[in-house]
Amino acid sequence: MKRVLCVLLAFSAMLALPVFAQTATGTMDVQWDAGKADCSNEAPRPLQVHRYNDSTYVLRENLCTTYEAPFMYLLIGEAKALLIDTGDVAQAQKVPLASTVMSLLPNVQGAKMPLIIVHTHGHLDHREGDAQFASMPNVQIVGADLDHVKAYFGFQQWPDGVAEVDLGGRIVDVIPTPGHYPSHVSYYDRNTGLAFTGDFFLPGRLIIDDANADRASAKRLADFLRTRPVTYVLGGHVELNRHNDLQEMGSSVHPDERPLPLSKDDLMNLPAELANYNGFYGQSGMFVMYSQTRVLQGMAAAAVVLLIMLVLAVRWMLRRRKRVKAAKAS
Ligand SMILES: [Zn+2]
Ligand SMILES: [Zn+2]
Repeated sequence: MKRVLCVLLAFSAMLALPVFAQTATGTMDVQWDAGKADCSNEAPRPLQVHRYNDSTYVLRENLCTTYEAPFMYLLIGEAKALLIDTGDVAQAQKVPLASTVMSLLPNVQGAKMPLIIVHTHGHLDHREGDAQFASMPNVQIVGADLDHVKAYFGFQQWPDGVAEVDLGGRIVDVIPTPGHYPSHVSYYDRNTGLAFTGDFFLPGRLIIDDANADRASAKRLADFLRTRPVTYVLGGHVELNRHNDLQEMGSSVHPDERPLPLSKDDLMNLPAELANYNGFYGQSGMFVMYSQTRVLQGMAAAAVVLLIMLVLAVRWMLRRRKRVKAAKAS
């Protein structure tokens, strides 16, 4: 009987594969600064730092400093630290990003722990802060263009495959997620179960540059995370209020802003949402999906049509006036 029990236990353990170690806990209980309608006097703190746990920090630039108010993530391992994105502001006087990040890093053998700076993608609001780290010792900045991303992480068959960064006792997986941007990647921290999805997946506008690539990325990321523990999915911005209405574009204040985290279920639903997207514009629940390029092309085409109609109308009026004049003269 005992033997049967052992076999059964071994079998059930096999079925339970893959087995993941328990994730380190943390808290996303934080009230992000809402910005201000008038930022001219008494500017709020330019950079807010939230401690998720001892070795994980979420940073955000203030809406008064940049309406993009991007999020950045600092993961500290035993040997190295990883900063995901550097935000929208290059000047340290405006946002003291580098000094803040350095103050959070522990010392290793009498010096600050080495820091690797990576990005979710190459849009400027995620990498302007690189400049502040440019001449710092022990800091490596990985370029955000496709060549640098492929070379640094070692992607042989982009956008297939998953890379990993070993921070010492903390491994972060790197999953290609192009669609919003050609070299976009998402990160999965095995230690905390946090997934960082940049502008590919966030509570707000999903600006899709390449719909087919985006759909494939959603499937790739969902397939990768399906069997893994996911605590929270954290994007690059929040652009919704608590009723899931979009915040005004370019505004320096986000009234009643909704929390940053999305859930694993939200991410698992993304492939189905994108399957229904027409490649131009679509809204489904809290997600607004659109192609900025195609919307701009549409607006440009509409402007051209309007211009042609205006020219035709003026020509018609001039001809009419000429006819009236000729009729009066005869
Ligand atoms: Zn972007
Ligand atoms: Zn962005």
